[in-house]
Amino acid sequence: SAFAEIDLGEALNLNIERCKYVRPTPVQRHAIPIAVAGRDLMACAQTGSGKTAAFCFPIISGIMKNHLSFRAKGAVAAAAARWGRNVACPIALILSPTRELSCQIHEEAKKFAYQTGVRVAVAYGGAPMGHQLRELEKGVDILVATPGRLVDLIERARVSLKMINYLTLDEADRMLDMGFEPQIRRIVQQMDMPPPGARQTMLFSATFPTEIQRLASDFLSNYIFLAV
Ligand code: AMP
Repeated sequence: SAFAEIDLGEALNLNIERCKYVRPTPVQRHAIPIAVAGRDLMACAQTGSGKTAAFCFPIISGIMKNHLSFRAKGAVAAAAARWGRNVACPIALILSPTRELSCQIHEEAKKFAYQTGVRVAVAYGGAPMGHQLRELEKGVDILVATPGRLVDLIERARVSLKMINYLTLDEADRMLDMGFEPQIRRIVQQMDMPPPGARQTMLFSATFPTEIQRLASDFLSNYIFLAV
């Protein structure tokens, strides 16, 4: 099978071609149709498996289909008025353990989102906040972030998670190993209580200890478990 056979939207399919991705990797072949169908997902995936595209493609495709026209109708202006002018209200959040991984995801996501109208930004700790804040102020649909910096931005009222429709936890086992569980739980608590199934959550992890299974049962609803 090929990417062109999955209806991800014309602009995204063109970017996939530009990236010279011809055949989906196993995690992509299984995860993308599940995610495009709107299901929650817990997937076993190692670095190098192509997991970044596996979660980015459905998110970008979903935002193109369901949110861009909504934004044009002034929803963002309404949200800005409600939450404050300088509060970024992303539609998708991708949490990752490190600055390095966040930057990698951000670079890939920008390529996939090229000319789609979907805006991507990144926020990570250990760096000055100024540049990240200026990027957030330009508007962001997909925010890639490390947990500590995101909690900081929420406390400073620079990011609101009230509009989050898509949540991805990447390398969840590494985030827990690094002690980020309290921050992750605070972050998820910030999201509006959705009607059943309104928020789509994808959890990617290389290993599945009890703590990860607990996260999955707390954050995912009626999810599909994928081990490739
Ligand atoms: P990841 O596991 O997401 O870090 O991806 C590992 C590497 O494989 C990255 O350099 C991707 O750009 C590349 N890659 C991911 N999916 C594909 C694909 N379907 N075809 C070719 N290269 C890919």
